[in-house]
Amino acid sequence: MAEFDLIDLIHKRCAIERADVRLGIGDDAAILRPPPGLDLIVSTDTLVAGVHFPEMTSAQDLGWKSLAVNLSDLAAMGAMPVWALLALTLPDADRTFVEGFAGGFAELAAQHRVALVGGDTTRGPLTVTVVVHGFAPPAHVLRRDGAQIGDAVFVTGTLGDAAAGLRCLDPRDAQANALFHAPPETREWLISRLLRPTPRLAAGAALRELASACIDVSDGLLADLGHIAARSGVGIEIDALELPASSALLALFDAPDRLALQAGGGDDYELAFSVPPAHVADVQRDLARVGCGATRIGRVVAGQGVRLLDANGTPIALRRRGWDHFA
Ligand code: ADP
Ligand code: MG
Repeated sequence: MAEFDLIDLIHKRCAIERADVRLGIGDDAAILRPPPGLDLIVSTDTLVAGVHFPEMTSAQDLGWKSLAVNLSDLAAMGAMPVWALLALTLPDADRTFVEGFAGGFAELAAQHRVALVGGDTTRGPLTVTVVVHGFAPPAHVLRRDGAQIGDAVFVTGTLGDAAAGLRCLDPRDAQANALFHAPPETREWLISRLLRPTPRLAAGAALRELASACIDVSDGLLADLGHIAARSGVGIEIDALELPASSALLALFDAPDRLALQAGGGDDYELAFSVPPAHVADVQRDLARVGCGATRIGRVVAGQGVRLLDANGTPIALRRRGWDHFA
């Protein structure tokens, strides 16, 4: 397949009409028209085969995930996604792969009416870079630097499922025997949390006027909350017993293993955020409405860094607090 046939295939699969796209794929650049009065929120994320996803990941799942992790960054800002760019580096021009990839990408793009407006296609080791654009009202963009002492700390959904899904895929994992004997639908659900994460866009939008700081959990809860703490100049205390767990995680892991997955596992793409006391009740009500719910897991305190506490308030030391590419 030639480069332009590949681009054509992607273009057809991802066709979404938007009035703010004056000119999409096909020229040297796209022409886009942001609405007056809204801020443009922009982010990019790269996925490298063998680093960010197992080499065996299906093309469909990779297409979905490459957009999902980017939309998750917009969710964490409280932005509404609108446009995307896709830079694909492929070892060869494999039509079946590109069809599958575009299918998974288009499935999620259609859910949120995200228009693919351009990109680049090159040959090399399998790597996917996506750029996303979103809009948000200027006064209400969610940032990492707004947490205040006395705020409550929340997280959406459940934690640790994606990291457990990764262990399900790893044949050498010490726990693999227990996981191997888990019901197939439980394993599949955990793996889908890894390969098909749900960007919490509705939650992010609902939090715009309620949260004081927000981040998406991509590297691990404690590591990511550490960014809020550092940027806001505060400390954060997390109550280990309050961390939300799925029924799959509860069924398959004992408490210490579960805690390691919840607090240190990456790839959850839930939102972790701080909330002033006056907005706590609103958060609980509004996030129950958007489906994923939110659990109160801790508080913002004076000081610095993130501390994980047991039932007695004693700090717990975890071997791994999160993912660092260069550690
Ligand atoms: P140029 O050489 O001028 O950069 P390209 O030949 O790379 O143009 O791309 C032609 C058109 O196809 C451009 O509009 C570009 O944005 C789009 N495009 C290329 N690759 C992709 C891709 N993987 N996904 C979406 N659009 C793409
Ligand atoms: Mg180009």
